[in-house]
Amino acid sequence: MPQNNYAPRSRSAHFGGRRPGGFGGRGNSGGARRKNGNKQLIDPARFVQAAKIVEAEVYTPTHMFADFAISDLLKRNIATKGYTAPSPIQDQAIPLALEGKDVLGIANTGTGKTAAFALPLLNAILEDKSKRALIMAPTRELAAQIEEELRAYARGSGLFGALVIGGTSMGKQIRELRSNPNVVIGTPGRLKDHTQQGTLDLSQFNIVVLDEVDRMVDMGFINDIRILLGMIADDRQSLFFSATMEPKVASLIETFMPGHITVSVKTGTTSANVDQNVVHYGLEEEKLEKLHDVLIDPVVVKSLIFHETKYGAERLSKALNDRGFKTEAIHGGKSQSHRQRALDAFKANKVTTLVATDVAARGIDVSDVTHVINYSIPNTYDDYVHRIGRAGRAGRKGFALTFVRK
Ligand code: AMP
Repeated sequence: MPQNNYAPRSRSAHFGGRRPGGFGGRGNSGGARRKNGNKQLIDPARFVQAAKIVEAEVYTPTHMFADFAISDLLKRNIATKGYTAPSPIQDQAIPLALEGKDVLGIANTGTGKTAAFALPLLNAILEDKSKRALIMAPTRELAAQIEEELRAYARGSGLFGALVIGGTSMGKQIRELRSNPNVVIGTPGRLKDHTQQGTLDLSQFNIVVLDEVDRMVDMGFINDIRILLGMIADDRQSLFFSATMEPKVASLIETFMPGHITVSVKTGTTSANVDQNVVHYGLEEEKLEKLHDVLIDPVVVKSLIFHETKYGAERLSKALNDRGFKTEAIHGGKSQSHRQRALDAFKANKVTTLVATDVAARGIDVSDVTHVINYSIPNTYDDYVHRIGRAGRAGRKGFALTFVRK
């Protein structure tokens, strides 16, 4: 079947298509299976830290994009994206991945890791169209975001991809998978569903990417990942990315990526360029007033507010709207299409306040968030680091405020 045209045959199947909207799916938080029972007690002192001088962190890449052995088309598309120099993870991982090595990238979110795997895999497929890549990500939003970036890098190549995530129509995904996309991007649960019903044959795939492995493990996807990796061709290239190396992550890597090369660009346990502080409140009733005070401060231009539960997030978003703050919410109680719309409105600055649960917000890339507000304390310090990593992306200074009861 000829798929190599770039015409809108099936728009969402192409790296030129539109994101599939939801069709009233159950809309959980990207298949979240995390147990919230065991909350860590975090010393509030850890929520206070001044941002480091960003200039001290300037990185001098050893390559320019022009130096990489990638096709001219990819180089042109990178230039169109406006990238001038590779980020550290790109600088170090891309040459190894282009040599066909298995690479483990230890990198925080916002470090440019998507391009670090996307460019080598697209280049490999452009050189050998029989190659196929599978990309797994923890949440629907992150998978959709990866698809969007791949589309930009692959523009004009004739390659196409399928986005296989929960909360959207199975039928449409089945049609897309039937036309043998070059790249399949998805969340583990839905990918497994397709393999079980025979609509996805992973033995055809010879490049596999796991993005945010630690998050996927945290969310209870480890068994699904093991099953899926077990189905992929033995003769394959693996590119795994994780912000941390907890034991379960290490065991996955040991089993599925022996002989890999590790590239680590982690700078510290927390985002160095985020100014972190606490907001004290007394009674529960005071909390919303304090948040109101924070939000009316003119320095708070665009804020991402974390709240614990989907009910809490929804209630808070309504309360803020009632107070005149243009607010949207993303959480597991909303359908995929509603979540995507809320995220798009936030990205386009139609709303400047977004209330989110941890799982719904994981991995989302909104580059101009000035403030992350922890309206509820995260379950673990690791979650805290992930939350505040949403502010101060792409080298900008960001702010994190955590609400702590007096
Ligand atoms: P990621 O960590 O892949 O989510 O990327 C974080 C943000 O950095 C995204 O908005 C990317 O478009 C952007 N980005 C990635 N690579 C570069 C680069 N080399 N130069 C400038 N921006 C980049």
